[in-house]
Amino acid sequence: MNESITRAVSDLGLDDMVLPFVVEPLESRGRVVRLGPAIDRILAKHAYPAPVARLVGEATALTVLLGSALKFEGRFQVQTRTDGVVDMIVVDFDAPDRVRAFARFDAENLAQAIAMGAAAPAQLLGSGHLALTIDQGADMSRYQGVVPLEGQGLEEAAHQYFRQSEQIPTLVRLAVAESVTGEGRQWRAGGLMVQFLPHSTDRQRQADLHPGDAPEGTLLPDHSEDDVWTEAKSLAATVEDHELVDPTLSSERLLYRLFHERGVKVFEGQAVIDACRCSDARIEEMLRRFTPVERRDMVGDNGRIGITCEFCSTHREYDPADFDPV
Ligand SMILES: [Zn+2]
Repeated sequence: MNESITRAVSDLGLDDMVLPFVVEPLESRGRVVRLGPAIDRILAKHAYPAPVARLVGEATALTVLLGSALKFEGRFQVQTRTDGVVDMIVVDFDAPDRVRAFARFDAENLAQAIAMGAAAPAQLLGSGHLALTIDQGADMSRYQGVVPLEGQGLEEAAHQYFRQSEQIPTLVRLAVAESVTGEGRQWRAGGLMVQFLPHSTDRQRQADLHPGDAPEGTLLPDHSEDDVWTEAKSLAATVEDHELVDPTLSSERLLYRLFHERGVKVFEGQAVIDACRCSDARIEEMLRRFTPVERRDMVGDNGRIGITCEFCSTHREYDPADFDPV
């Protein structure tokens, strides 16, 4: 058994954690994410029908995998805009550990898709695009990568993103499951990402800071999919969906299963929490930007302005008079 994997496997850190790792003999690095209570709370807040929840779970696992890999301050966002039953998904990852998500879908079309047996995650997306945005704050440049969605699903779209934008061979696997326990239904999501380590560490530092933005004249290393990458990819690809969402299988155990012949080194896990950025202060600031007349137009039947956060479903109410100039 590889020394680095002998760390005690405990209940601690099984869920809502990202575990980075390297498989040095295969020049590959990656990360495993296991989401338990965090994804269950995100999905429960929206009470999404199961097929939509599955898709949002995939998008959230993907966002955490990619976002937690960035060494940055700020926000990483994954967004889909498509013509499918689920026409928009937005997942925000706020460094270093916060995630939130929502999706928009048409209930009638969803019922039809379910009746036709066409409600798999990729089918619900349809065609459009997937945008990945790194926003490091007001003074920093914003980076956006866009890949077309043409029915291939999020895993394959992620592979395309890394091929096109970063030229790093990457394998991504995502799985979502709903388990029925004594306490009710619980959603779990898991993901595995494996990347071929670029030979140049300088280039890698560059890629961490500014993905897809290597300075002109930079010699890009040859990322031909050589034998070691082929082996890393095929080992990683043997991961089963149920392993990615199994609450009794730790990420360390999972990595050991996949890579024990080559030896895998794991690093400190990173916790992930479901947390929204909405707050009274932010909403009040937004409301203050409107004129008194505009604010009066927003009031509902109860005479108050009702605002529901689309990410966390928190409903807040405000008296328009509180915002009038004194
Ligand atoms: Zn919120």
